[in-house]
Amino acid sequence: MSDSSTPVRVRFAPSPTGKLHVGGARTAIFNWAFARANNGTFILRIDDTDPARSTEENTQIILRAMRWLGLDWDEGPEVGGDFGPYKQMERLDIYKKCAMRLWDEGKAYPCFCSAEQLAADKKAAQERHDPFQGYQRRCRHLSREEAEARIAAGEPYVLRIKVPEDRGDVVIHDAVHGDVTFDAKELDDFVIFRSDGTPTYNFTTVVDDAMMGITHVIRGDDHLSNTPRQVMVYEAMGAPVPTFAHISMILGADGKKLSKRHGATSVEEYQAAGYLSDAFVNYLALLGWSPDGETTIVPRDVLAKTFSLDRVSKNPATFDPAKLDWINAEYLANMSDEAFCDQIMVPELAHAGLLASAGDKPRAWLLTLASVVKPRTKHLGDVPGICGMVFGTADTLEYEEKAVKKGLAKEGMHAVLEAAVSKLETLETWTADAIDAALDPVPEELDAKKRLVFQAIRAAVCGNLVSPPLGVVIELVGKDDALARLRRAEELAL
Ligand code: GLU
Repeated sequence: MSDSSTPVRVRFAPSPTGKLHVGGARTAIFNWAFARANNGTFILRIDDTDPARSTEENTQIILRAMRWLGLDWDEGPEVGGDFGPYKQMERLDIYKKCAMRLWDEGKAYPCFCSAEQLAADKKAAQERHDPFQGYQRRCRHLSREEAEARIAAGEPYVLRIKVPEDRGDVVIHDAVHGDVTFDAKELDDFVIFRSDGTPTYNFTTVVDDAMMGITHVIRGDDHLSNTPRQVMVYEAMGAPVPTFAHISMILGADGKKLSKRHGATSVEEYQAAGYLSDAFVNYLALLGWSPDGETTIVPRDVLAKTFSLDRVSKNPATFDPAKLDWINAEYLANMSDEAFCDQIMVPELAHAGLLASAGDKPRAWLLTLASVVKPRTKHLGDVPGICGMVFGTADTLEYEEKAVKKGLAKEGMHAVLEAAVSKLETLETWTADAIDAALDPVPEELDAKKRLVFQAIRAAVCGNLVSPPLGVVIELVGKDDALARLRRAEELAL
């Protein structure tokens, strides 16, 4: 166990074999928050020793996702640090030296058993119902001279760790699961270097965690079964064993491990789907952790102050897209109109080609628009759909078929539009309130249903039936264009 007075050092160690997934992101968030809450150091390390599946492109995607999530790392790729390099492929010499030292010290040994030999041993163990069916330790007692001679003669070999025969139980004091006991007898003398000269995960991870001074290993509980093996490596190296915290899996609504079948699983997809980074981090932080079991809005700075491992649940967490949407909407609703306008609305409108830049429209106009778009936005990409109709002109406005059918093509609607035109034509103060007040008497004057009257005006000005409050939209469209829209729609009305 690490000494509680030692400054906290944690790491997130993704393998760049794919994009950053929701589960990985949650692990990264827990590590980041734990470091921040303890004034510790958050390290990003790239576990790229699986050359067949790791790519530089994936590494870049992961770094981009980490940046989007706002999980700043104190040491790692691009920022450096005293314990680098932070990509495992750049550390091969370190692993080699370390493995050789273990051999020199009699804690590891070369094994020359062929695949056939291993298979035959396994089969024999099965046949005699030996409870231990792992590696039978054939090469454990070869002399150094013999081993060196065989290596010199070009015989292929792996390096195995020597699990002490009298080691007894290996107890992991897991910060989430409590004490978890493994019988060392069940542990093979497992391979730390393959015959192709590449080191294995259980070895590189420990070498790095030990050399980087990692005090707490916070990772998915799919790694719990690797942990006793890793403890063997720490012990062989004479390095202190860190505190482990194995966090639960994330499940889909059907109780199965979250996967593509459940929808988007990569951080990139959520970014593209229009979630706010702050909301997404808040949501993921609550998958298996909670400050008190109730609070659902935990802003990043609060998370960074209050995160603790003792409030991490060992039960699997269920990914709930509806809750994510709700949290996202809360974050949007809680933004100021100014922030929403500048950080979200203008970029989204620009992206949709509706606005070249914020300078295209008066500031007050944009802020008024933001005030009505913000409460209607669930995802960032909703913005153009909510307010696209205030852009363009009467000539370019597109009418939805449903709006024409339900809003305009009804008996008496022509008269409604004419009445609206005459009310607005003479209106001098062009504000939402004045517009609403001017249109308010129309239903009574025409003896028509209020709902139908305003549905018709809405369809005429907006082209749809669901836009933000009518007075504001008419104000933003401007007098000339609002009148032109009403007149154009008269042609569609009965
Ligand atoms: N590269 C490993 C993974 O992505 C890291 C596991 C660990 O944190 O030790 O699963």
